[in-house]
Amino acid sequence: MTTFPGWIARETPDGHRTTLEELDSGILDDGDTTLRVHYSSLNYKDALALHGRPGVVRRRPLVVGIDVTGEVVASRHPRWRSGDLVTLNGAGLGEERHGGLAGLAAVDGEHLVPVPDRFTPARTAAIGTAGFTAALSLLALERQGLTPAHGPVLVTGAGGGVGSVAVALLADSGYEVIAVTGRPDSLHERLTTLGAAHIVDRSELDTGGKPLAKQRWAGVVDAVGGPVLAGALAGLRHSGTATTCGLAASAAFPGNVMPFILRGVSLLGIDSVRTPHDRREAAWQLLARHLDPDLLDTVTRHVPLTAAQDAADDALAGHGTGRTVVDVR
Ligand code: NDP
Repeated sequence: MTTFPGWIARETPDGHRTTLEELDSGILDDGDTTLRVHYSSLNYKDALALHGRPGVVRRRPLVVGIDVTGEVVASRHPRWRSGDLVTLNGAGLGEERHGGLAGLAAVDGEHLVPVPDRFTPARTAAIGTAGFTAALSLLALERQGLTPAHGPVLVTGAGGGVGSVAVALLADSGYEVIAVTGRPDSLHERLTTLGAAHIVDRSELDTGGKPLAKQRWAGVVDAVGGPVLAGALAGLRHSGTATTCGLAASAAFPGNVMPFILRGVSLLGIDSVRTPHDRREAAWQLLARHLDPDLLDTVTRHVPLTAAQDAADDALAGHGTGRTVVDVR
């Protein structure tokens, strides 16, 4: 038995409370691959779990953290050897299985992806679930036939984790990117550096309840839901496609069928957690091809494991600060 530090959610009369404790390796799940965690990251879900909010932690006690990047210590899975550097996003981590905000993790080797040559382990963690989801969103748009020649792509919540990586990935892939943010002034330089061609205040997406607006963009990567998603669909060009992955604004969808039945648009759902292995590989290959590590650094901050809970405040306050790497070493 060894001990290791980890953020663990324990049951309370009104839900759960998450604290940093010294844990015993006996607590680990029965995964076929044991990892020494080098880095985790903070996603919106991690902010909820760290702050005792409902909706993410599905069993207690539970080590939180939906991402893990680290080194294989031991594995019964044929693909992995001791010393391999690997990463895992979702697959139940930090929701129904013990997660990555801890020194050790036991996971299913089937879901692991090698740390790509283009990224260090720290940068791989910086990409994390948010960047992985941005890549899944772009893959989904392109499976639907979208190419840069079809027109601009709108990215909502552009200042957040999913949005920041989506802007950089799309721009590097040749798309004209329209970044939607609630902070157009303070984020102008950052979003432009990432590759946004236009920056739009989120209030401009409000159609005042009108189901259709001028046809402006050919694709949408949405991470916020609510009226912003409705407005994004209202301005989608004929036959365009939108992806929806998040609810940073709202889980409600105050939309209308008109864009679907008069303009033939599509809305595709993205679930990073249960992504099959071949699609995980494809998303990480896309990231390795089209995400400039130096640009990623411009939206990344690093915090030690002890500071993870405090660092999650920003996401809950509605102004994500790009990506946060948690150093667990
Ligand atoms: P962040 O907290 O990093 O960013 C969210 C961004 O959303 C904010 O920075 C802000 O951008 C925007 N936002 C916040 N509040 C509002 C509001 N009231 N109205 C409009 N926009 C708002 O979160 P992530 O990017 O990591 O995640 C975004 C969402 O996607 C979350 O709901 C998350 O749970 C979900 N998600 C889902 C996944 C899946 O598999 N389906 C995987 C990953 C994330 P700005 O300041 O620029 O306006």
